[in-house]
Amino acid sequence: MPASQIDREHLLRIKEREEAAFVRLRPKSLALWTRAKLSMPNGVPMSWLRFFYNVPPVFVADGNGARFRDVDGHEYVDFNIADMSMFCGYGPPAVVEAVSRRTAQGSQFLMANEDAVWVAEELARRYGVPKWQFTLSATHANIEAIRMARAVTGRECVLFFDGKYHGHFDEGLVELQGTRVVPEEGGLAAGVVTRSRVVQFNDPDAVRAALEPRDVAIVITEPALTNNVGLVLPDAGFHAAVRRITREAGTLLAYDETHTQVVGPGGLTRMWELEPDFVTIGKAIAGGVPLGAYGMTEQVARALERPEGPWNEHPPVATGGTLFGNALSMAAARAAMSEILTGEAYEHTRRLGARLADGIESVIESSDLPWVTHRFWPRSGVTFAPRMTRNALEAFAARDIQLTQAAWAYFANRGV
Ligand code: PMP
Repeated sequence: MPASQIDREHLLRIKEREEAAFVRLRPKSLALWTRAKLSMPNGVPMSWLRFFYNVPPVFVADGNGARFRDVDGHEYVDFNIADMSMFCGYGPPAVVEAVSRRTAQGSQFLMANEDAVWVAEELARRYGVPKWQFTLSATHANIEAIRMARAVTGRECVLFFDGKYHGHFDEGLVELQGTRVVPEEGGLAAGVVTRSRVVQFNDPDAVRAALEPRDVAIVITEPALTNNVGLVLPDAGFHAAVRRITREAGTLLAYDETHTQVVGPGGLTRMWELEPDFVTIGKAIAGGVPLGAYGMTEQVARALERPEGPWNEHPPVATGGTLFGNALSMAAARAAMSEILTGEAYEHTRRLGARLADGIESVIESSDLPWVTHRFWPRSGVTFAPRMTRNALEAFAARDIQLTQAAWAYFANRGV
């Protein structure tokens, strides 16, 4: 049955039935939401969370391993693992122990400690770029990488690929409307569109044309797009072409491994032997304790080092953060990388991901649906199109919001 022939009325009935059941079965979440609306816009700590799903927000009680429980006592197995931020699992003993110890011994000093050295060394070993700096989120790692790229190149603009997400910072919150770049959300200065360019993934000619004016400081991309577009993989040779073109144009290149770190130690940068000027990362690197980081080449790092001392005619690059790289986050990251994010653990999650993909594939085949299964190591999934989409235009055309919402409520009501 082609997706276009899905009985929409039947689907709508399923969606409405499941969403009604979802609300009926969660009286305690609903009561908390009513109370929360008095103290928080939309009744949630980040207002956008209200619109993340098509049902009222769930309030969580606790989690363990790959599962969490809501306040009504429903248990869920979390295949999205808090959008990859809890890839180490809920309540991992190594992080619990490290965080407890570090909190008792002081969690923040505004000074470095040995854990910070260990974490920087380990990230360098995994991702193959030698010098590292820390923030508290991937968003902020990308912000600081952009500032460094501006300082190094003397240029202002940033190039992204359509369908990207790199965090909630001004330059990154733009999108294409036809061929025009427009602000994606409210609250952004109109002028932000003059500093960002957006082209389609897998289109080296578009990258070349966008860099041609020689005003782009940095290209930021995930090695494979995993946000807003399901999953979009690079064509053979695409990353090599982007690297060649950026070098020719004097533009720096950043790979954002915030999601793709789940494929293995060193993410896709290591697996595909990519050659970035920056790697940016966040989410799971400290086992769920906030930490972001960006790695860079020796050449780029010189912009921060100022060997002639603090007082010279060049202002320092605008990096910051009282709590960035705090001792608590560093202790958690050390525990996560040394005891949880091991080679064997990645192998295990790859096997689980392959099992999930096999299951999805056999359901799709037995139902004769023209859909394709993602095989992306632990992060398996499905695209509602007969083949993998190559860019955001194709991915947006394949989106089926009604089906996604129906499936979400259906699975949530069954503990997934
Ligand atoms: N980069 C990528 C690739 C992401 O997927 C995300 C979040 N989805 C971010 C950056 C921003 O992460 P955070 O919200 O933790 O700053």
